[in-house]
Amino acid sequence: MTRLRRRRKGSRLFALYAVASLVLVTILGAVLVRGAQNVGRSRGLDQGRAQAAIIEQMAIAPALSGADLSAGITSAQRDRLQKATDLAIFSGSVSQLHLLSLNGVVVFSDDGSVLGAVPVADPAFRSAAAGQVDVRIVEIGPQSSVAIRVLEPVIATSIGEVVGVLEVYLPYGAIAEKVQVETSRTITRLALGLVGLYAVLALISWGTTRSLRRFAADHLHQALHDPLTGMPNRELFRQSLDDALGGGRRGERGAVVLIDLDHFKEVNDTLGHHAGDELLRIVGRRLMESLRTDDVVARLGGDEFGLILPRGGSHEETIDLLTRVQHELGQEIMLDHVALSVEASFGVCFYPEGAETVEGLLQHADAAMYRGKHGTSGVVVYDPGTPLNPTHALVMQGELRGALEREEFVLYYQPKIELATGRVSGVEALVRWQHPQRGLLPPSDFLPVAERSELIEPLTEWVLRRALADYRTWTAAGLDWTVAVNISARSLGSLTFADRVHQILQETGVRPSRVHFEVTETALAFDTKLAGDVFGTLAKQGIPMSIDDFGIGYTSLSQLRTLKVSEVKIDQTFIAGLPDNEKDRAIVRSVIDLGHNLGFLVTAEGVEFQDTADWLLDAGCDHAQGYLWLRPLPWTDVARVFGPKAPTTPQFATLTASAEAWAGSEREA
Ligand code: C2E
Ligand code: CA
Ligand code: CA
Repeated sequence: MTRLRRRRKGSRLFALYAVASLVLVTILGAVLVRGAQNVGRSRGLDQGRAQAAIIEQMAIAPALSGADLSAGITSAQRDRLQKATDLAIFSGSVSQLHLLSLNGVVVFSDDGSVLGAVPVADPAFRSAAAGQVDVRIVEIGPQSSVAIRVLEPVIATSIGEVVGVLEVYLPYGAIAEKVQVETSRTITRLALGLVGLYAVLALISWGTTRSLRRFAADHLHQALHDPLTGMPNRELFRQSLDDALGGGRRGERGAVVLIDLDHFKEVNDTLGHHAGDELLRIVGRRLMESLRTDDVVARLGGDEFGLILPRGGSHEETIDLLTRVQHELGQEIMLDHVALSVEASFGVCFYPEGAETVEGLLQHADAAMYRGKHGTSGVVVYDPGTPLNPTHALVMQGELRGALEREEFVLYYQPKIELATGRVSGVEALVRWQHPQRGLLPPSDFLPVAERSELIEPLTEWVLRRALADYRTWTAAGLDWTVAVNISARSLGSLTFADRVHQILQETGVRPSRVHFEVTETALAFDTKLAGDVFGTLAKQGIPMSIDDFGIGYTSLSQLRTLKVSEVKIDQTFIAGLPDNEKDRAIVRSVIDLGHNLGFLVTAEGVEFQDTADWLLDAGCDHAQGYLWLRPLPWTDVARVFGPKAPTTPQFATLTASAEAWAGSEREA
C-alpha cells in the first residue's frame, strides 16, 4: 500500500471518529439542556408554590380567623381580605386570586367576580381540598398570558382543618425571565464544557489515529523489509516482481536477477556471525550503489539477493551492467582485519519472454544461478532451450526428503589397507543415491544441497545406522573390519549430535572403538569452539576420530595438539603426484612425521598406482585407500575380494580388474 493511500485511510478514520463523537456530544448536550430547562421550570413552580403559601399563611388565614367558608364570609372578613391582598394585586406580584369554599363557591375574589374560578369537579381542586397543593403553568385572560396557578388548601388555624381552597395566579413572565436567564447561563456553561470535551476527544482521537497509522506503517515496513540490511525482503520483492510483470504484459521489458554469494558460510563460520552480517550489509550497499534508483534490490534471505531491473535495455546491455556489478562486488572488503573478496553467482531471467508468472521468473533465474554455481562463472542467463537443471536446489531438497523416506540411499564401502601387511583393517562408508530416474548418484550431486539444508542431519543418522547394521552383518560373517563414517560440519555444530550417536551405539550394541568418524579439516574450522567440543565429546565416548582431506583445509597446529585425533588422512591431491613430484613428496613425508610424532596413524587417500603405494610404505605411511585396491562397492562385493576366502596376499592388479567389473553400476567419479 502506498503512503498516500495509508494517509487517506487514516484521515477517513479520523473523520469518522470526529463525526461519531460530535453526534454523541450533541446528544449529551441536548439531554443536559433539556435537564437545565426542567430544573428552571420546576424552580419557577417552587417559587410560585412558596409565594402562594406565604399569601395563604400571612394574608388569607389571618383575615378569615378560623371561619368556616361553607356559609360564605362576613363583610368584615371581606374587608380584611381585600386589605390583605390589595397590595399584592397592586404590586403585580399576584394577578388573580379566588377564595373558594370546599363546595366550589367563590367566597372572595380580587376583582369581586365569582366567575373564572376552577370548577369543583377539577381533580386539581379536589386534591387541594384534600390538603395537597397543586401548582401548574396555565394560560389566562384574553391575551392568553402565561401564569402559575396555585391551588392552596386554606387551613383554619384554630382547628387545623382545610376550610377552603385558595386559587392564586402568579404572573409567570418575571419568573420565566429569571429562570430563562439562569437556564441560558447554565446552558452557556454546559456548551463551553461540551465544546471543551469535544475538543479533547477530537485531540485524543487525532493522536490515536496518528499513532495507529504510524504503528501500522512501521509494522508494514517490518513485514516487508529485511532487518539486517533494511532492504526489501522476499515478500516485497515478490510484490514488486508482480508489479513489474504487470508492466511486462503491457510490453515493458526488464530482467530479474538472483544473486548468491559463494563461500559465505565459510566467512560466517570462520570469522563469526558478526562479520557475516557486516559482509551482507556491505554487499547490499554495493548492489544499491551500482544500480539505478528505480531498480529493486532485495535481500531474499541468507546470502541470497534479488534484483529487478525494469525498463531494461537490450540483453547485452543488461549483461554488461550485471558484469560491472559483479566486478564491483568483488572489490576487496576488510572484515576483522581480514581482506576478502566476494564472489557471487548471478542468474538472470528476462521478462516478459522468460516467464509469465512470478513463480516462473524466480524459478528460471534460480536455475540460471545454479548453473552459475556449478561451473559457468559470470552472469548466467536463463535459456528457455535448456531444460531446468535437475540439481536445482529447491527441487533437489524436496526430492532428497522423499528419498530419505523411501530409503533410496545406499552405502558403498572402500577398504582401507594396512600398507605393511596388505590386509584390510577397515572400510569407509560412502553414501550414494539410487535415484529412480537418474540412476546411482555420487555424493557430490546431492550432499552440497543436503548440507545447505537441515536434511544433512537425518541423512548422517541414516548413514550411521545403515553402516552399523552392515557392520554387524559382516562381523557375524567373520570379518573384523572397522567401519568409518563421514561426519559433516553441520553435525559438529549441533549440540545434540554426540548424544544421538551415543544412543545409536547403545541401541545397536556396537563398541565405539570399532566405528571411526571422519571429519574434514574445513568442518573443524567452522565455529571452532563448538566443533572442538563436539569432536572432544565423541572422542571421549571412545570413537576414534580422523581428520579427513588433511592438507587442504585450515587445521592449525594448536588444534592438532589439543584435539584427541586418532588418524590423519592425507588428501588425495598430494598423493596423486607421488612418487615423482618432489614438493608432494616433501609434504607427504612431513605430514607422516608430524602425525607419528603426535601419536596419530597416517592414511593416504586416492592411491591409484603401485609405485605410489610402494613409496608410501617406504615413507612409513600406515594405511592407504584408493582405486589401486578397490573402488567403493557394496560391502558384499568388498568381501568377495578381501573376504576370508580371498587370497591372503592379494595381487593388486588382478583384484582391481575384477573389482572394476563389479563396479559396473558405480559411476565414474
Ligand atoms: P572422502 O571422504 O574424501 O572420500 C573419498 C572419496 O575419494 C570418495 O569419493 C572415493 O570414491 C574417492 N576415491 C577413493 N579412492 C580414490 C582414488 O584412488 N582416486 C580417486 N580419484 N578418487 C578416489 P566419493 O564416494 O564420491 O565421496 C566424495 C566425498 O563425499 C567424500 O570424500 C566425503 O567427503 C563425502 N561423503 C561421502 N559419503 C558421505 C557421507 O555419508 N556423509 C558425509 N558427510 N559425507 C560423505
Ligand atoms: Ca572420508
Ligand atoms: Ca578424504
